[in-house]
Amino acid sequence: MAPVASWISRMKLKGRVHFQEPMEHHTTWRIGGPAEVLVEPADQEDLALLLRLARKEGIPLNFIGNGSNLLVSDAGVPGMVVKIGQALGEVKVEGRRLRAGAGAKLARLAALAQAAGLSGLEFTCGIPASLGGAVVMNAGAAGQSMAEVVRWVKVMDLEGRVEILRGEELGFGYRQSVLQHLPVVVLEVELELCPDDPAAVARRMTAVWQKRQLTQPLEYPSAGSVFKNPPGAPAAGKLIELAGGKGLRVGEAMVSPKHANFIVNLGRARATDVLCLIRRVQSLVEAKFGIKLEPEVKFLGPFGWDGEICA
Ligand SMILES: Cc1cc2nc3c(=O)[nH]c(=O)nc-3n(C[C@H](O)[C@H](O)[C@H](O)COP(=O)(O)OP(=O)(O)OC[C@H]3O[C@@H](n4cnc5c(N)ncnc54)[C@H](O)[C@@H]3O)c2cc1C
Repeated sequence: MAPVASWISRMKLKGRVHFQEPMEHHTTWRIGGPAEVLVEPADQEDLALLLRLARKEGIPLNFIGNGSNLLVSDAGVPGMVVKIGQALGEVKVEGRRLRAGAGAKLARLAALAQAAGLSGLEFTCGIPASLGGAVVMNAGAAGQSMAEVVRWVKVMDLEGRVEILRGEELGFGYRQSVLQHLPVVVLEVELELCPDDPAAVARRMTAVWQKRQLTQPLEYPSAGSVFKNPPGAPAAGKLIELAGGKGLRVGEAMVSPKHANFIVNLGRARATDVLCLIRRVQSLVEAKFGIKLEPEVKFLGPFGWDGEICA
């Protein structure tokens, strides 16, 4: 048995443990080779045990939420992937505040907020994220983002210590937060929302959802927008379209003809196909506009960055 697996097997964990788990089952792109070990902790105690083990034994550690912003290598992920899922997703609504575990899905939170007559999460409709992933990425749409509603975040560091970080301390920017650079896992988040008529909130949610259905290729696996919008320039999707990138294909990965900032998996796309397409799109846009598009998606596992894989 591989070393990481043997360490994990000896632990008394309440959560689920999977060995050589295909990451394609845990990403919305439906792409990714096996994680050496994937653990879904049942509670904070499980999580603290895992973090201490990883630190003590030097096991590589990666956190994921709903895998909706991840390109996972075809070679898989060495070490341990810790998935913060529904078990860590308890939700409480108190007045205008909604407190939830990081594993809660945004769709559930938006529905609960609407039912409680609270506005502020309508923009999240159709973002298939966990709350933790949404805060780490500062997920947003139509000029709004998580930054506007987060009061505080409870995090755990690699020694299992828990700390509260206030919204102002999170360094929120466009698809940016300090949480992307700190060695911590998000456990819990408190949001502050605005009281509103539930029917009005529901109408806005429906409008957001309908717009997504009209403009995004939701019928295919994807990770949403692949590139960040460059500052002071047209949106990344517009630049890709103007550079002639729509419909470009590598293997079974394709730049969506419906929304050029989406790369869709037509069936059996590999991570290398997507990566080659990312590079081709970057080259096209750079050649036409002199702008280097920066990926919004995060990369997990080993990738050949030297370009040879795209030959
Ligand atoms: C159809 C579709 C539409 C989308 N639309 C939008 C949109 O409108 N706006 C937008 O911003 N994004 C959008 N996305 C992208 C994606 O949903 C967001 O980036 C989201 O915030 C990712 O959340 P996640 O839980 O899936 O995180 P993951 O993809 O699992 O992880 C993303 C990053 O967060 C880290 N992370 C996740 N959870 C934790 C945690 N608990 N603690 C510490 N680190 C953690 C991971 O290590 C990784 O670096 C879309 C994706 C899809 C597939």
